[in-house]
Amino acid sequence: MKIQLLLWAVTIFLNLNLTAAPLSGERDSVINDGPYFFLAADTLKAIWIENSMLRESYFLPDRASEIVLPAGQSTSYRELKKTFKTNPKYRQSYKRIDSIAIISDVHGYYDNYLKQLLSNGIIDKDLNWKFGKGHFVFLGDGFDRGDEVTEILWHLFKLEKQAARAGGAVHLLLGNHEQMVLYGDLRYIHEKYRKVEAITGTGYSNLYSGASLLGMWLRLKPVMITINDILFVHAGVSPQLIQKGLKIKYVNQLFAERITGREVDFPTGNEELDLLSGNGGPLWYRGYFNDTTLTVNQVDSILDFYDVHRIIVGHTPHKDITILFDNKVTGIDAGMGYGQPGYMIIYKEGRFYKGSLPGVRTGLFEQSE
Ligand code: ZN
Repeated sequence: MKIQLLLWAVTIFLNLNLTAAPLSGERDSVINDGPYFFLAADTLKAIWIENSMLRESYFLPDRASEIVLPAGQSTSYRELKKTFKTNPKYRQSYKRIDSIAIISDVHGYYDNYLKQLLSNGIIDKDLNWKFGKGHFVFLGDGFDRGDEVTEILWHLFKLEKQAARAGGAVHLLLGNHEQMVLYGDLRYIHEKYRKVEAITGTGYSNLYSGASLLGMWLRLKPVMITINDILFVHAGVSPQLIQKGLKIKYVNQLFAERITGREVDFPTGNEELDLLSGNGGPLWYRGYFNDTTLTVNQVDSILDFYDVHRIIVGHTPHKDITILFDNKVTGIDAGMGYGQPGYMIIYKEGRFYKGSLPGVRTGLFEQSE
């Protein structure tokens, strides 16, 4: 009797699971994604996925029609076309900026990213720029792991234009996951994007090729910038980089011209390219957190070389904001890519704060200038 009851209970449990499975499976299998734009002569071709169906449309210069983007945003032919004509700025150094906000390693978690920006006063509830003349730094790794990468990129694309009009700025810096997708390493893409590949008949990296609008836009982005006395870089600057004397402008130029979006067999034999693309390079280096031989003197010489007082990096996840080497190195990746709420860093009038998801600000340290 006991065994019969137990079997009965097991059968009920299995049935419940079986009836629940197709429902959630059905919901998950509906794909919405895009748009992705491609330029051929003067025609912009848009493809997107709506309810798992591939849709396409063509935009011509003479048509002033509004182009709809995710989350109720819109753009125009003119705004999109401009991206293809923009020249990259390799040296980016900004001084006397009163407000800075930094986020990193969002990894496709669009909702969390928006909540952070909303709680910390970067955007309003309609997702528009609210940070005035402030500078917002997106410190790389928007790609991979989560399933709303496209939404994040389009939001940054729009925000960048709105910020510039307000006298502020959005700085999207490249992380190793941007580099990976752009050169075809798709190990970490969410399974949704495998379905996107199947529906569009296009490899995921080709959606971000140099002929695609988002691909072109990403290829214009830097790896290193400075704001006030802070150096921003996705993973970090290793002592080897300054031993080679690699200045910011040169590093950004090498990435744009030789590394980003290029399928290269490493090692190439070119010492600079191999250093920049490898584990000691600015997109992969983890030495601040795991090299026990690294000294504060070495960190000082890195800061001196780039004429800054501190470095802010993402890439290496921790439970919290991590401050090392006498406040000179700050790691901001607090695991958003692993489903954690994460943190932002807010700089306002000489002080650094930790900004949390509920919008609570905690003081970190003061500007050393
Ligand atoms: Zn990274």
